[in-house]
Amino acid sequence: MSSFTEQLVSEHKNVLLTREQINQKVRAMAAQISQDYKGEVPVLICVLNGSFLFFTDLVRELTIDCEVDFVKISSYGDALKSSGKIDVLKNVDCPLEGRHVLIVEDIIDTGLSVHFLRRWIKKLNPASMRFVSLLVKEGTAIVDYECEYRGFTIGKEFVIGYGLDYKQLFRNLPEIYIMPEALLDAMNK
Ligand code: 5GP
Ligand code: MG
Repeated sequence: MSSFTEQLVSEHKNVLLTREQINQKVRAMAAQISQDYKGEVPVLICVLNGSFLFFTDLVRELTIDCEVDFVKISSYGDALKSSGKIDVLKNVDCPLEGRHVLIVEDIIDTGLSVHFLRRWIKKLNPASMRFVSLLVKEGTAIVDYECEYRGFTIGKEFVIGYGLDYKQLFRNLPEIYIMPEALLDAMNK
């Protein structure tokens, strides 16, 4: 019996973004950020858990001085859709007052997380705040939000891999896949 990960990786047709496409995009986004923040020392905030691979790849490509910090907010649990309710599970450690802050997300779907984070971080009085997201789903937002640095615009499908999970699995994969129906069924048997 093969693992769920093996079953997914064998489904080449479900690859949405290859390792190479992701690498290229991450390098381009890091180059843009390095240019825009030249002479500044921004604090980059990783929104756990989904952003962890994107975040580490992104910061490794930056050529400016920067600091890193981590927040964790509650998200989907094991569901495929947002519950709409967001809690802070881990706060930032670094004082953000007067700092240039870049909040790094894996994916924006309903926009609720970004909307929430923007209001919450704003209370910490940063000098500036921008959002970075590797993926942005098209036509799924239920609130207005701004995201200044966007990687790929994708469809409505549920995606996994490269930090993104289903039931906590598949975060370790270097590609991004569309969740196959058959795998969803197998995991919910
Ligand atoms: P939003 O608050 O914009 O609805 O969703 C934000 C969070 O939901 C993302 O940071 C991510 O953790 C999770 N999410 C949204 N869409 C997907 C998806 O297609 N796949 C996975 N694995 N997580 C998603
Ligand atoms: Mg996220």
